[in-house]
Amino acid sequence: EVWGCDTLDKAQSFLSSRADKRFSLQNFVAGQFLTSSSPPAQHIKSFEPKTGRLICTLPCTPPDEVEQAIQHAKAAFPSWSKTSRAERSALLRRVSDLLQEHRELLAVWESIDQGKTLERARIEVDRAISNFSYFSTFIMHEQTAARMVDGVALTYEHRSPAGVFALISPWNMPLYLLTWKIAPCIAFGCTAVAKPSEVTSMSAFLLSAILQKAGLPAGVVNIIFGDGATTGAALVSSPLINGVSFTGGTQTGIAIRRATAHQIGKHLSLELGGKNPTLVFADSMSPSARERTIRLAAMAAFENQGEICLCGSRIYVERSVYDEFVADYKRYVAEKYIVGKTVGAVASLQHYSKIRSYLEIAESEKAVFHIGGVPPALDGEKADQGYWISPTVLTDVPATSAVQIDEIFGPVVTITPFDDEDEAVRLANASEYGLAAVLLTTDGARMRRVGEQLEAGLVWVNCWLVRELGTPFGGMKNSGTGREGGEHSRDVFTVVRTLHLPSF
Ligand code: NAD
Repeated sequence: EVWGCDTLDKAQSFLSSRADKRFSLQNFVAGQFLTSSSPPAQHIKSFEPKTGRLICTLPCTPPDEVEQAIQHAKAAFPSWSKTSRAERSALLRRVSDLLQEHRELLAVWESIDQGKTLERARIEVDRAISNFSYFSTFIMHEQTAARMVDGVALTYEHRSPAGVFALISPWNMPLYLLTWKIAPCIAFGCTAVAKPSEVTSMSAFLLSAILQKAGLPAGVVNIIFGDGATTGAALVSSPLINGVSFTGGTQTGIAIRRATAHQIGKHLSLELGGKNPTLVFADSMSPSARERTIRLAAMAAFENQGEICLCGSRIYVERSVYDEFVADYKRYVAEKYIVGKTVGAVASLQHYSKIRSYLEIAESEKAVFHIGGVPPALDGEKADQGYWISPTVLTDVPATSAVQIDEIFGPVVTITPFDDEDEAVRLANASEYGLAAVLLTTDGARMRRVGEQLEAGLVWVNCWLVRELGTPFGGMKNSGTGREGGEHSRDVFTVVRTLHLPSF
């Protein structure tokens, strides 16, 4: 069965019957749902992580169809880029309202498709709603300041939409991350071809039906499906694409940078991987702060099964409180993070096997498993129980172990002691990545002293995942380049010229 313009109704009735029938997704191009020429035999299969069951198939859009979608985005650009900001703002508001109207449907599907808990999926749909409402408001309040230079010329910055964008997102927070790109892209007058991850394409498909319902002019946003090697690579490297906003793994970011290196003017915003540290100082284990410290260190590690780029998967604890921290921490995690209740399934069989291979390394290196363990090997046939991995807390993992170095992106955390502040900073920064860090201390001077030395684009002190959508979001080192959020997103999606007017 093929789902198209009646997608939202079908998605709803599918849930009530939970029939064993399969369906296939269609690309959304030029305002229409189109069947791809990609042969059904090459369609990508999408499984439900909680049951291992096949739910739908999607086309692996071939390069010539990618190019056609880009042509439609290019054709839509001249008129869309000239719309008034009030018009664009109103459209974003309509999308936000429609997402709100379909909140539960979207959340249920996101949870089915990605494996996350329904509660977590609701949070992410709410964030998708605010992505549109935030930029709807933001563009109505933009101002440009003029300056006088040497009393000779009046200068001002004139910005215009940068053109047609490739928007590419990963599988961990599918709707939240794709709308974090689509909303500013169209708010600033650009058009787009968006490609969600082939692992979790469902919410992007539902979003296309919502964009159509909201009355988005044809071609302004085109959503196509496919893998990275065929569809993604053709999309980013097309000379008609003026910019790429990408969120995903560091190796893919490097491949995109390489593929576009000769197109110097192409805007690149790359939000990549992380292996983020959480620093626990002895003062944060005082009776009044202890509960918060344990709760935040656990939440940062295990929210969304550890499948958030901002998760704190390396915990460093001041030696004087190390033993009590480990004891409290494992008790808390065992009590609060329960597979099937507060912990979902990991996103795919492939990802399950990757996480498992790191746990095998930990076992062979004689790490101490305080809770969790190596899950059973699964293959396609035996995976019908779903892809479940228990939260795993490890100590005695050497700094040279791949378990400490690589981004595992699952419910696995290591705990390591440190002796003083300098060592804490050194250990935190000893990573190729620099996305986020959590600092747990009650010492106000230390918050700044340590916080300002951490090589991380985002530092959270006694909190985690707190975001205001205007603040710059992005990573240092191999965690990416470019920042998004508020005026930083404007920098991604606009070009700027400085005008000099003579004083008359
Ligand atoms: P991935 O890099 O494998 O895939 C991401 C997207 O890129 C997918 O849509 C994929 O199809 C596409 N892709 C793959 N190869 C491509 C190519 N050569 N050209 C163009 N597109 C290509 O990442 P993933 O496994 O889906 O997601 C997990 C990664 O995402 C983790 O490393 C995680 O840290 C990172 N992530 C980063 C952030 C952030 O904001 N920094 C947020 C979420 C996830």
